[in-house]
Amino acid sequence: MSNQQTITRAFKDHFSKTPHFVIRAPGRVNLIGEHTDYNDGFVLPMAIDRAIWIALGARNDRQVRLRSLHFDALTEFSLDEITHKPGWGEYIRGVAWALQEAGYRLAGWEGVMTSDIPIGAGLSSSAAVEMAAAKAFSLVGGWGFDPPAMAQIGQRAENQWVGANTGIMDQMISAAGRAGHALLIDCRDLSTQQIPLPTENVFVVMDTATRHAHTDSGYNERREECEAAARFLGVSHLRDVDLPTFRDRAGGMGEGIRRRARHVITENARVLEAVEALRQGDSPKMGRLMDASHASLRDDFEVTNRELNVMVELSQNQPGCFGARMTGGGFGGSAVALVEEARAKEFTQAVDEAYQAATGLDPHLYVCRASNGVETMARSTTTS
Ligand code: ADP
Ligand code: MG
Repeated sequence: MSNQQTITRAFKDHFSKTPHFVIRAPGRVNLIGEHTDYNDGFVLPMAIDRAIWIALGARNDRQVRLRSLHFDALTEFSLDEITHKPGWGEYIRGVAWALQEAGYRLAGWEGVMTSDIPIGAGLSSSAAVEMAAAKAFSLVGGWGFDPPAMAQIGQRAENQWVGANTGIMDQMISAAGRAGHALLIDCRDLSTQQIPLPTENVFVVMDTATRHAHTDSGYNERREECEAAARFLGVSHLRDVDLPTFRDRAGGMGEGIRRRARHVITENARVLEAVEALRQGDSPKMGRLMDASHASLRDDFEVTNRELNVMVELSQNQPGCFGARMTGGGFGGSAVALVEEARAKEFTQAVDEAYQAATGLDPHLYVCRASNGVETMARSTTTS
């Protein structure tokens, strides 16, 4: 059964009627541009063919009731009194709260949610939940879904309601992705460009089976270090510094902060080079940029762990692999490799085996294709 059939059937089982809407909101993999988002820089994610699915029906009151099939649990709250309740429902409450704070008119709904995005694997299931929820509120409320505005709502929910200090990228790509394309996002003004991807290659996401904790002190520490570096360099964000300027001004900077800044500054440049490489269909160049990104994240930004390094090195040694890097916040989670489609199967088998042998862990490898951002897959005006 497809996800759409599963979620539609689950809705019927729970509510004995047809859903008004079926929504799909994808996870994402960032191809290059890591830890640049909160530095007002560039990122290049793609929406993947794994998603959160919600089937829902409008209610006549101001209650929201959503069942997660994954957690086999219900979250329920009134739009007139949104309070904190620990658990996955915080993402839904947070989106409702942020929307109301921003002046959107909300109405109640009930639904079920399923997903094939692994949680905490670096594929941003949380942003997909947020964008699916925002889409649900827009459909039930009868107002338009503006991707950048909704991405900001999701970020606000995650930052201020859930309490996770994340950037805007994950929500933006889940809101605005397009099949066959990566999305260049300028995190300063949220302007975007769709970048066509080579059709004969795939991106393989490789979950190391090690996990980050998103309230992890490591992430917040890196943000603070970047802010300190920007202050030292006399700019509001590291985005405003290019490599020659950095070399001129970095004298006297502490060694740790200097390496953090160097990562961000070189990574921003690599994203723009990657865009050119993809536009020219130059996968070998794209691969080399991914390799360089990983080295920078490992040596300068220090957000890899042993398993990510093992996964990336194993990948880079496989035939048909153009390049590989960790992806996501780091400290565990996933890596991503650019691989010839014709060799994707042998690639995943070889990496899977070699990784198990090297680490004793059971990895998960996903061959991903670029999909659309959040979309309404079905709608019905009559419920019976
Ligand atoms: P990720 O890297 O996958 O975004 P996070 O820790 O940021 O990891 O977010 C994961 C959280 O998102 C889960 O703990 C849960 O609260 C919520 N979530 C993800 N998928 C689902 C789901 N299928 N049902 C309910 N909540 C989900
Ligand atoms: Mg997340």
